[in-house]
Amino acid sequence: MSEQSKQSLTKKVLIGMFLGSIVGLTINILDLNTSDSFVNTYIVDGLFFVIGKMFINALKMLVVPLVFFSLICGVCGIGNINTLGRVGSKSLALYILTTAIAITLGISLAASVGIGEGMGLTSSAQFAVKTAPPISDVLINIIPTNPIKAMANGDMLPLIFFSILAGISLLMVGRKSKGLIEGAEVANEVMMKMVTIIMTVAPYAVFALIAKSMAELGFELLGQLAGYVMVLVSALLIHLFITLMIVLKLFSGLSPRVFLRKIRNAQVFAFSTASSNATIPVTLRTVTERLGVNNSVASFTVPFGATINMDGTAIMQGVATVFIANIYGVDLGLIGYLTVILMSVLASIGTAGVPGVGLIMLSMVFVQVGLPVEGIGLVLGVDRLMDMIRTVVNISGDAVVSTVVAKSEDKFDLAIYNDPYAGSNTNIKDLSIDESIEQELAEVIQETHEKS
Ligand code: ASP
Repeated sequence: MSEQSKQSLTKKVLIGMFLGSIVGLTINILDLNTSDSFVNTYIVDGLFFVIGKMFINALKMLVVPLVFFSLICGVCGIGNINTLGRVGSKSLALYILTTAIAITLGISLAASVGIGEGMGLTSSAQFAVKTAPPISDVLINIIPTNPIKAMANGDMLPLIFFSILAGISLLMVGRKSKGLIEGAEVANEVMMKMVTIIMTVAPYAVFALIAKSMAELGFELLGQLAGYVMVLVSALLIHLFITLMIVLKLFSGLSPRVFLRKIRNAQVFAFSTASSNATIPVTLRTVTERLGVNNSVASFTVPFGATINMDGTAIMQGVATVFIANIYGVDLGLIGYLTVILMSVLASIGTAGVPGVGLIMLSMVFVQVGLPVEGIGLVLGVDRLMDMIRTVVNISGDAVVSTVVAKSEDKFDLAIYNDPYAGSNTNIKDLSIDESIEQELAEVIQETHEKS
């Protein structure tokens, strides 16, 4: 295959994103998006909404079976409980470490700039308090009473628990389970093929998702909250390009430049969907096929990270806490900020990576440190855009930790990491069915018919 065609999906997705931004911004600037207008009803809330939503549904559709089968294959691939335990504890430690660094960075940057001081901004936006689950519930709910229900609800931690247990048990049963393990491997491959098929429409879906978000963006609010937005975006970029890259280099010795180039595709999906969970299929594919992380590690670290690791969200909580504390003239003091750090880390463990969940976590933190929860209304207007950016940071953190853990466990393929074209060959052409396989299948079907 030519290098050009190998690159075409990433390029097309980036073009979709660029064109989507232009179209969305034009609609917004020309004010075509007023409620009841044709553009709003049929284009933004019609066409763009439907295409975007269908694509997100398609990604979500794959999450549960993909995590289930790839984890079973992963556990059977590792084949050793001690290694499994090491992968689990290393990734947990790194996820907590990076989240704690992230929130500390958010608080320090916001406090040193002094955002919100003397601003006295008032907002009519209301924020309804939602509560995040207490940590005891989170722990209890890791074990599902009904695995099918956990799957139906897409609850990631109980799903991970059940799949790992199933994988371990399959190994323990031994020779008799060979057929099931092989079946899980085939199912995993089939799920990955489905990701590939869905990815072929990604450029159009990304266009629709971005165009809708940009058309709805509150530019006046962006101006009003310029200080908050600038500090938050700077902290997110510092964490993505400096902190996480230092972690990558320090713990794995791998080139951050190669990493950043290869992770781009998954980042675009995180940005467009604002959901780490919906991005799991793409992150998993990128981490295994582009970065060279073995599925035995990635199948665990990626869904685990999408649920418990939210560096970008933690940064937002740090910056928003300082911002709103300053606006209300509340001095949180050292103990207050330490509580914020602790609460944010705990809250990120207990909540799934879906759009807007950061605000729920923020309300939990506010209640804990005694800040007025209505204050969240002040940042509500710009939160969608901030959510998109912080989700990029969230999934990048997952990918860094996956790479570091895989490298340390020798479950890593350096040749794939260094090959610029590895895993980038998603083209319509690649989706064709092998003619000989088609022939074979036809014969099998014919035989079955004859027998019956
Ligand atoms: N949307 C984020 C994620 O899915 C969570 C959040 O910050 O709201 O990772």
